[in-house]
Amino acid sequence: MTKRVYIANTGGTIGMKKTPSGYAPERGHLAEQMAQISALTRPTMPDYDLYEYDPLLDSSNMTPHDWLKIARDIAARYDDYDGFVILHGTDTMAYTASALPFMLEGLRKPVILTGSQIPLCETRNDARENLITAMILAAEYPIPEVCLYFGDKLMRGCRTVKVNANGFDAFGSPNYPPLGRVGVDIEVNWGVIRPLPPLATPLTINPLNGNRISAFRLFPGISADIVRHILQPPLKGLVLEAYGVGNGPDHDQEFIAVLREASQRGVIIVDCTQCFSGSVDLNDYATGASLAAAGVISGYDLTVEAALAKLFYLLSQELPTETIKSLMQTDLRGELTRP
Ligand code: ASP
Repeated sequence: MTKRVYIANTGGTIGMKKTPSGYAPERGHLAEQMAQISALTRPTMPDYDLYEYDPLLDSSNMTPHDWLKIARDIAARYDDYDGFVILHGTDTMAYTASALPFMLEGLRKPVILTGSQIPLCETRNDARENLITAMILAAEYPIPEVCLYFGDKLMRGCRTVKVNANGFDAFGSPNYPPLGRVGVDIEVNWGVIRPLPPLATPLTINPLNGNRISAFRLFPGISADIVRHILQPPLKGLVLEAYGVGNGPDHDQEFIAVLREASQRGVIIVDCTQCFSGSVDLNDYATGASLAAAGVISGYDLTVEAALAKLFYLLSQELPTETIKSLMQTDLRGELTRP
């Protein structure tokens, strides 16, 4: 039986049109472009329905409300399709790909986010390959995960980061192997894919509420005052992008006191490394242990994108602070590896 794929066009470069003021989204343009690709009508391709969001967004304008819209859209059409392709701008795609796994509970079908660096309307582009392969992956490979496909790599969504502003190889998964590689053949690495949830588990949506969270990158010369301001109510959670294995300037007693005071008030401070890859270990150095003693918790190898998404998700569950801290350090969707 011919497989069916639902394609949601949320916006982004892939479907943009050339205008006098630069590339811009235009309603109906992507459908026109896709109608000209004869490969999409071949018997080896799945049937598809393309739905265009209104407004089409440059992903720099996306918020958690847009993540919820996507999650609800998938849930509403879940039984009608074999898989889902979400066309998305590249700028914040890794954030959406990090949030959707927490919002879509009990997912048994593939959700593949993709986009491109050059729009489909250009003669030379990366859009055509990304689109066609994402459709094939969604139709033919029953991966029960939110994934991001770009360049030649299929990655777990909540492990991705945008690594190149211009290149076709725009995304990486620094702390987890790709779920698949696409070359002459499509090779899925089933050994690293999450198990299927039990059949009895229905797909449910975990909405995110408007909790205030933030991310803050340490740098030499950081002032404790600035950190104090950031940690003021209504902030509930902070991703602290620390040095190396999670270290910070513990000679600055005021800085440590500010962290301790906020943590005692119930602000969840998650330590992630500002390095491209690797994991936090707060026991390695005194400069890390001081942060832990002040109440900062380890984000292990979470990306900043995944740490923010997970904070949004857990804070929306309205759990006791200690439970949130414990779950932040527990692998829930394949987003984190504990040594
Ligand atoms: N600014 C665009 C966006 O994120 C870039 C892209 O799609 O590549 O929507």
